[in-house]
Amino acid sequence: MVMDLKSVFEISGSCEKFSCELSPEELALPEDRELERAVEIEGRVTNTAGIVEIEYVADFCLKYHCDRCLKEGKKKFSFSFRHTLTMELNDENDDGYIVVGNGMLDVTELSAEDIILEIPVLLLCKSGCKGLCQKCGADLNEGDCGCAVREIDPRLQKLKDLLN
Ligand SMILES: [Zn+2]
Ligand SMILES: [Zn+2]
Repeated sequence: MVMDLKSVFEISGSCEKFSCELSPEELALPEDRELERAVEIEGRVTNTAGIVEIEYVADFCLKYHCDRCLKEGKKKFSFSFRHTLTMELNDENDDGYIVVGNGMLDVTELSAEDIILEIPVLLLCKSGCKGLCQKCGADLNEGDCGCAVREIDPRLQKLKDLLN
């Protein structure tokens, strides 16, 4: 969705509300993550004494596989974002702004980038998931599989020998 913000930029005190959806195709998720349905986005663009800001909330539900034990899971997310918009940069070093050259802002593109950066890299089925046994593949959350005989690091073994 592209918003025409020229009038918001022109009129101090103005506010424009918006809502839109991001389809799974519009969000470039990694292969093992999936949107349950479209992302719901709701927000507004305000001009406060000449400072134009966009604020919005993105709600969605992700289907994924636990990064340790591969169990399938679902998780709800609600992210809030806020950016200051400008039609032109006065100071080239200032990269905190989003430049909307002609007053047209592609909300789809902006929100897709924001969301991808905010989704945690590591998604677990629960905090402290023990994962799978590297030897037999058993789910260690369900108990010890019996392969507990750890191979001892050779350096540690040397230390042990010294101590004995
Ligand atoms: Zn897990
Ligand atoms: Zn095992």
